[in-house]
Amino acid sequence: MLKHNLGYPRIGIRRELKKACEAYWSNKINSGALFEVGTKIRKENWKIQEKAGLDLIPCNDFSFYDHVLDMSLLLGVISESYLSIKLIDNNIDLYFSMARGFQKNGWDIKAMEMTKWFNTNYHYIVPEFYKNQKFSIFSNKIFDELAESKNILKSIKKIKPVLIGPVSYLFLGKEKEKSFYRMDLIENLIPIYIKIIQKLKNEGVNWIQLDEPILGLDMSEKDKKIFKYAYGEISRFCSEINILLTSYFDGISENISLFHDISIQALHIDLVEEPNQLEKILSFFSRESKTILSLGVIDGRNIWKNNYANSIQKIEKAIESLGEDRVMIAPNCSLLHVPIDIEYENSIHIDIKNKMSFARQKIDELNDLEKIIKGNKNILLSNSSLLEESSSVFYDIKIKERAIKITDKDIQRDNPFYIRQKKQKQKFNLPLFPTTTIGSFPQTKEIRNLRNKFRKKELSREEYDEKIKNFIVDVVKKQEKIDLDVLVHGEFERTDMVEYFSDKLKGILSTENGWVQSYGSRCVKPPVIYGDVGRVGDMTVKWICFAQSQTKKLMKGMLTGPVTILQWSFVRDDQPLSHTAYQIAWAIREEVLSLERSGIQIIQIDEPALREGLPLKKKNWKSYFDWSIKAFRLSSSGVKDETQIHTHMCYSEFNDIFKHIADMDADVITMETSRSKMELLKAFSVFSYPNEIGPGVYDIHSPRIPTVEEIFDLIEKASKKLPIKNIWINPDCGLKTRKWEEVLMSLHNMTKAAKMARIKLVS
Ligand code: GLN
Ligand code: ZN
Repeated sequence: MLKHNLGYPRIGIRRELKKACEAYWSNKINSGALFEVGTKIRKENWKIQEKAGLDLIPCNDFSFYDHVLDMSLLLGVISESYLSIKLIDNNIDLYFSMARGFQKNGWDIKAMEMTKWFNTNYHYIVPEFYKNQKFSIFSNKIFDELAESKNILKSIKKIKPVLIGPVSYLFLGKEKEKSFYRMDLIENLIPIYIKIIQKLKNEGVNWIQLDEPILGLDMSEKDKKIFKYAYGEISRFCSEINILLTSYFDGISENISLFHDISIQALHIDLVEEPNQLEKILSFFSRESKTILSLGVIDGRNIWKNNYANSIQKIEKAIESLGEDRVMIAPNCSLLHVPIDIEYENSIHIDIKNKMSFARQKIDELNDLEKIIKGNKNILLSNSSLLEESSSVFYDIKIKERAIKITDKDIQRDNPFYIRQKKQKQKFNLPLFPTTTIGSFPQTKEIRNLRNKFRKKELSREEYDEKIKNFIVDVVKKQEKIDLDVLVHGEFERTDMVEYFSDKLKGILSTENGWVQSYGSRCVKPPVIYGDVGRVGDMTVKWICFAQSQTKKLMKGMLTGPVTILQWSFVRDDQPLSHTAYQIAWAIREEVLSLERSGIQIIQIDEPALREGLPLKKKNWKSYFDWSIKAFRLSSSGVKDETQIHTHMCYSEFNDIFKHIADMDADVITMETSRSKMELLKAFSVFSYPNEIGPGVYDIHSPRIPTVEEIFDLIEKASKKLPIKNIWINPDCGLKTRKWEEVLMSLHNMTKAAKMARIKLVS
């Protein structure tokens, strides 16, 4: 039974990669110094995995920015615009210009598009394909790293180079020209893959890993055919090397028939996301006599210790049906998605820390599992008793009980929308096309320094509060001057929309060093939801009420919703996600009610992450929407008819889920749309959204100032699709990443356009 790993975090324990890349980009170090940091991280990673006794250790899982972009460079998938930059004469600068764009000496080339890696929070650079796309071996990275690993690990037999498989690689990309389907490029692509594999074989490599996460999706018949073709060819021409095909993030039972005609040495399946697939996969492979099954039993996307009893049960089942030689064990996916080492956490309560495991610990868990299989029952027993250990830090029986006792009344406003709308319109007396923003205003250096100083206790609570109040006073004045209708307090006290709340809720903790790569040099430190989540006191009321006291206009309260808090955290795995979501929802609901009692009449509950939590397979969508929408409604339905609930969503395609968004029954929703020039509006031709809506009228992701005319034009378009009385006018997301001067001019044009619309579009 071989133990292996699909990929190890590459940012370095002190985020060395981030620091080195950023220093290189700002010309503080040269490429030699940058490469040195890469070498050091790789060496450390290989040593750790070697020491942990892994039989197969990944190579080429390191990346200076993104492993999908690495593939594009390896395969020569590089758009002409980057190749034509005369100032660039080496691969690393070419690579970074693709990732980040190139603005220098008159050149202004945009970065490539970036999008989410399946349903994780990692972002990859989307490969760009042209109709006559050529492929070639362009970069040497994989071969260089192989040579390096040979030096360090001594035994080549242990090294397993990792590549994204050809079918998933094409699938993850995008056509840059019309009238062709990128998957049809497979015939051009396969010969290059075969060349690469043969070259690796000639270097003495015994195993290679081809990642094909497409296997976990709903594959079309056409894509299945392409898959069969691809692996038919690869197994024909690369028979002297062992190929491990990996799937992850979901089960592959629906696609298992593909393996009737494909002969590969080993297949990896994700038994964390989809434990139920084991039975079917085993019965499929037990009919033949050679394919090895790699069992992904350790959770590479969460930070809890493995439940050995659970894993052993699966491993034993597989051994029983295939024999020990045909079973491998591994984490379910690359460990890229978890922090590196729990030993660097010094302030986590010991009862919680004992149950946690980061990448380094997860590798050791494989060893434990092997020992248990070989007969060491003590390890199994101590793991079971550790996981069962209860501690008062985890449980709050009242919260637990309330979370699942949800009545219909709890998730229903008192009256339907049309009655609420009438009451709200009467009470607020807002003009048609009311204007507002999404919540945050520019986070300047000054404000970030202020928060840092307070965090480091260089400022007293009073001093800090006073300064924050000054920022609020200022932002209220600015909004009044621009003549916005519904104001916000600016979110100056928040570093991050989830962290702010998780720091204030019980049952959630922040780590000191639990960094995970989000994209390129950007790392995030997701909070850990370890126990029953509850509200200990007011979280936002003080700031919102202060802001309201500064103006006669309506001040909008600003909260993060339960689904987003859940989605952007590491979540406990000892109860269904829905229960945790309901616990958070109850806590947010209490905050909503507290704001209402304090006189706040409009409250926004942001749910930008609602869509990204969507399961990969359509068949699982319904149950996701059932609990996620219920959680949102639980958080928002406690208020009176006259209190207006807003929500905000961004980052994603909404057209296919509009009906569910309507089920949230927020009085007003503001959405990201403007990058796609109100693509969203197409959805309204098919589905008429029942409540009020603010389809973002300009793109906050770009520094460009929108003109009054173009905003008016968008408003006019919207007014043809939606009842005028339901339309709000707002930017498409929060303004925290923008500069003040841009914001002032853009918002000024926005309110001007709204005023124009009130005259021209209202008859
Ligand atoms: N209220 C948040 C802000 O304005 C919303 C952020 C988001 O949509 N991700 O920053
Ligand atoms: Zn947004």
